[in-house]
Amino acid sequence: AKNAGRNTIRFFDPQMQSVLTQRATLESELRAAIDNSEFQLHYQPQVDSTGTIIGAEALIRWNHPVRGIIYPDQFIPLSEQTGLIEPLGQWALEQACRQLMRWSEDDRTQNLILAVNVSARQFHQDNFVEQVRQAISHSGASINHLKLEMTETMILGDVSGAITKMKQLQSMGIGFSLDDFGTGYSSLSYLTQLPLEQVKIDRSFIHNLPHNENNATVVQTIISLTRSLGLKVIAEGVETEAQRQFLNQHGCLHCQGYLFSRPVPIERFEQLLQLHDNH
Ligand code: C2E
Ligand code: CA
Ligand code: CA
Ligand code: CA
Repeated sequence: AKNAGRNTIRFFDPQMQSVLTQRATLESELRAAIDNSEFQLHYQPQVDSTGTIIGAEALIRWNHPVRGIIYPDQFIPLSEQTGLIEPLGQWALEQACRQLMRWSEDDRTQNLILAVNVSARQFHQDNFVEQVRQAISHSGASINHLKLEMTETMILGDVSGAITKMKQLQSMGIGFSLDDFGTGYSSLSYLTQLPLEQVKIDRSFIHNLPHNENNATVVQTIISLTRSLGLKVIAEGVETEAQRQFLNQHGCLHCQGYLFSRPVPIERFEQLLQLHDNH
């Protein structure tokens, strides 16, 4: 009885109630937003050691009619819990493939790689491989330029199932990048088991480089480890010239971060390509 009383009190806790109401509102707004095409992809450049743009990461934004731009941290977790990530993730994939198709029509953009984030629930759908195949065939995009960013936590639980799916996609020509690398706890075993092309060093290791000796050591170790396994490596969250220099000097030639550009709408991204005379 005491427990029931406590539960009743919690349920009518006004603060709790407002959280529930807010969530319900957000959820119904999210559903409507998918129908009303209120989502947009922004593109953040990925550059090589000469500063040439070699590709981009697609990052989703919600153009809310009243609240303005809403960032993914505000709606991706709820989308994941409610299952809305399935249509949303599919939309992002299709949108990215259409962009790749447009890039393939111009000499100056046809070699760009586009990286798309995949969430756990999206990836674990039975028909995920088929969805990717369809997004590519409907758009006419070149499969070799699509990269999927995964995190190690989304592989937890069903490692062998994940490997099977990844291998199917890999055999179609898709590359995988392991996102937020170094923040999980079993990174090393995944590195050798998963069919990866690239590892992305998490920005938490980058932000206080080169002064923080521990992070400097971790970053150097990740770089030499990935290279000895034959994997590519990219750093995210690169904000200063000193960070870029440290990374390049230690063999991480590909970088992404505010130093080069924030994620921007496609028109702005294409201006950046011209500014950098991307040949
Ligand atoms: P993420 O995949 O780790 O993406 C990198 C985040 O770091 C992005 O935040 C980006 O704007 C930010 N960032 C880039 N450069 C810098 C920098 O130099 N300094 C700092 N402090 N931050 C930087 P954003 O766009 O808010 O995205 C947050 C997260 O939302 C992403 O983290 C990703 O997990 C998720 N997300 C974004 N788009 C999608 C999507 O289409 N599908 C799924 N499933 N998740 C997405
Ligand atoms: Ca990412
Ligand atoms: Ca990341
Ligand atoms: Ca992250």
